Amino acid sequence: MELKTEVLVIGGGVTGAGVARDLVMRGIDTILVEKGDLAAGATGRCHGLLHSGGRYVIKDQESAVECIKENVILKRIASRTIEDTGGLFVSLPGDDESYADRFLAACDAAGIQTQVLSLSQALRLEPNLSREAKTVVKVPDGAVDPFALTIDNARDAARRGCRILRHTKLVGIDVEKGRVTGAEVHDRVTDERHHIRTKRIINATGAWAGHVAGLAGANVPLTLSKGSLLIFNRRINNTVINRLRPPGDGDIIVPNEPTSIIGTTSITVSDPENFTVTKKEVDLMMKEAGLVLPPSAEARVIRAYAGIRPLVAAQDADSGRDISRSFSILDHGKQDGVRGFYSIVGGKLTTYRLMAEKMVDVVAEEMGVHIPCSTASEPLFGSEDGEHYRLEDRFTSIETVEEGEEQEGKVEEIVCECELVTKDEVLKVINEMKTSNLNDIRQRTRVGMGSCQGGFCTYRLLGILHELDMVPQYEANEILTSFMEERWRGIRPVLWGDQLREEQLVEGIYLGIFALDKIQPLGKKASKSKK
Ligand SMILES: Cc1cc2nc3c(=O)[nH]c(=O)nc-3n(C[C@H](O)[C@H](O)[C@H](O)COP(=O)(O)OP(=O)(O)OC[C@H]3O[C@@H](n4cnc5c(N)ncnc54)[C@H](O)[C@@H]3O)c2cc1C
Repeated sequence: MELKTEVLVIGGGVTGAGVARDLVMRGIDTILVEKGDLAAGATGRCHGLLHSGGRYVIKDQESAVECIKENVILKRIASRTIEDTGGLFVSLPGDDESYADRFLAACDAAGIQTQVLSLSQALRLEPNLSREAKTVVKVPDGAVDPFALTIDNARDAARRGCRILRHTKLVGIDVEKGRVTGAEVHDRVTDERHHIRTKRIINATGAWAGHVAGLAGANVPLTLSKGSLLIFNRRINNTVINRLRPPGDGDIIVPNEPTSIIGTTSITVSDPENFTVTKKEVDLMMKEAGLVLPPSAEARVIRAYAGIRPLVAAQDADSGRDISRSFSILDHGKQDGVRGFYSIVGGKLTTYRLMAEKMVDVVAEEMGVHIPCSTASEPLFGSEDGEHYRLEDRFTSIETVEEGEEQEGKVEEIVCECELVTKDEVLKVINEMKTSNLNDIRQRTRVGMGSCQGGFCTYRLLGILHELDMVPQYEANEILTSFMEERWRGIRPVLWGDQLREEQLVEGIYLGIFALDKIQPLGKKASKSKK
């Protein structure tokens, strides 16, 4: 198939989705290709902190100012995806107390509102906080759902005419006489190749940006930094907790839906796809969490995961933490003699909109398009009502049963008990997206993201898809097997205590009752021979 577009965006993380939305809002015809699901890269593996900028304020004022400005904008335009939790910076005995003074002065200079709290005020906000806390400063941090933010940008772009090709990998870039003329993409579902005629390509592939640039004979010098995180089975804190000290490992805990997430680490790696969370990282984060939120020592960790930060390489930086978390736009026409090819790398989830604006400004100017950016004022599709997301609203809306409803059989069937996801919600996504992809359903409903990590609801989900004739039996077995393998990667580093016990129960269900390790080949054979 031959397609044609004015601009081709590569990568369906939050940056690519934001760039695509900005392009179509300026009337520029756009196609976005993503090799996997939306938010399959760093976006879906990040901490979910809507930075106030406090984290960077002493070492990197530029990043801090970007963060606070975008924090305010996103709370307005993407309100559905943000829980306005607020955040605390907390120092403990042994921390350098002079840091607090410098922090307050720097926040002031960057425009970040702060309030110093007494210990009793802080404990009223955050009852699980350590009684040892010395200085506690309140800042406007928040918690953001990276999946929802990316999906809402993509949905908004699509309804304005952007064509979004998921599971479609860029495999080649045509360059003629020093100018981009097209691209070759591979549809991984149908196994077909398509050619896209275009004069402009934006490389928004994060940790893969160097590889993609190489396809055009261009260069993106990156340092890849792995950051690992742990998810607790319950919400230990209601506000974002940061340590009031120079940024280090395991010093931020973000409330995320009914869980809390601690992170991160920063370890240089060479491969954006092959990495693991080590025992050393797990031990370090458990220790740090216990110091600032003592009840976390008793809480169960349900999953470890990691994401890769693509940091624009700096010659004089010793570690990933020393490289600026601001972003870079590379015009490969000027840099490598490949006109029409651009890369946008680095930055943060919090600053994705600004990154997209600056990237599209460059491309629009080259195209002679003079329509200004309007993404800072126009709410995303789904956030037009301006209501902030609140966890308790989601839960009470499901848990509230009106008198008589139970007898009338009107109570909704729950598919996922941990996240209280109903069968109706699941069916809505399946019908609207015409999808049988578990990730599509997971990202849009949170099914399987709670404390059992899909152990009890994934087979129910496949049962629903099977009933709808969307997934044949042998395929269901295959999906279940690969789901269990992926789940195991996340659970293996945190197997102790109750989590180990629960895992043995899940293993009993899948191997003992379902005999998943044995039935798959038989299922495939039986199903094929029926045809
Ligand atoms: C551990 C960690 C924690 C973080 N925590 C926070 C936080 O709390 N707050 C915050 O503001 N920021 C945070 N960040 C930063 C934030 O996650 C990133 O800045 C942001 O998600 C980057 O988005 P992106 O779209 O640029 O890259 P990605 O999300 O990595 O997207 C790139 C996409 O390109 C796709 N792709 C690659 N190659 C191809 C190809 N050949 N063809 C088609 N598609 C391709 C990939 O599949 C991927 O989906 C964190 C990052 C990490 C790693």
